[in-house]
Amino acid sequence: MQVDYDVVIIGAGIAGVSAALYAARQRLKTLVISKDLGGQLNMTTLIENYPAIPKISGPELAKRVEQQARTFGAEIVFDEVKTVEKEDNVFVVKTRGATSAEASP
Ligand SMILES: Cc1cc2nc3c(=O)[nH]c(=O)nc-3n(C[C@H](O)[C@H](O)[C@H](O)COP(=O)(O)OP(=O)(O)OC[C@H]3O[C@@H](n4cnc5c(N)ncnc54)[C@H](O)[C@@H]3O)c2cc1C
Repeated sequence: MQVDYDVVIIGAGIAGVSAALYAARQRLKTLVISKDLGGQLNMTTLIENYPAIPKISGPELAKRVEQQARTFGAEIVFDEVKTVEKEDNVFVVKTRGATSAEASP
């Protein structure tokens, strides 16, 4: 099944989920496709330099931002992106699994 989005973000590390939060809050139809949630954050048990949060584990920080992004309507699917190709006026993102998404350039 192929679905159209305004924004498709590859990767749900802190950069990806943060981008999803901003995009979804701007009411852009937003999809995150990622192999996992958190990326490198899953390798750290203690983060002490995230503004306004004195101490937090990496996975907990990822979960919080993911939930915040979902609050604004971002969708997140766990899959591996295999190709991104520009076709006419859209980017077509294909994954190892069933996901197929289009986003405007
Ligand atoms: C042990 C350790 C401790 C650290 N401690 C700190 C700290 O205290 N403070 C600090 O500021 N920074 C710290 N860092 C650095 C910080 O964790 C990273 O800079 C940050 O997590 C990078 O986030 P990112 O979203 O840019 O990338 P990543 O976390 O690398 O996320 C990339 C995401 O993309 C996904 N992905 C990649 N390719 C595909 C594909 N083809 N299809 C689908 N998904 C894909 C991955 O699965 C992953 O979810 C630490 C890093 C480590 C390893």
